[in-house]
Amino acid sequence: MKTVAAYTFPAVTRTGETLPARPLCDWHPDGCPDADPGRAFFVSVVSGAHWRALTGPYDTHLDALAKVAEAEGLAQRDPRASFYAYGTVQAPSDTRTIFGRL
Ligand SMILES: [Zn+2]
Repeated sequence: MKTVAAYTFPAVTRTGETLPARPLCDWHPDGCPDADPGRAFFVSVVSGAHWRALTGPYDTHLDALAKVAEAEGLAQRDPRASFYAYGTVQAPSDTRTIFGRL
């Protein structure tokens, strides 16, 4: 299982510019994007070319990342679960999930 690290943006850059605090993660070193209008973040499960939303919706990418391990644990009731890939996805806010919002 991949360990997820969350960071906060440095408040002042090397050039002295002050930046707004913004969450970072391993996938978005320049700052996690906001969800597009009408969309939200979900924990996803992928099997080949198919994916489903396991849990969500979440307002931020970090909120979804924080639920990946718990959602993967719930998915273990499926005997094929260890063959799937788990992560996060941005999708329409009304996307149906398997386990709801943890
Ligand atoms: Zn991110």
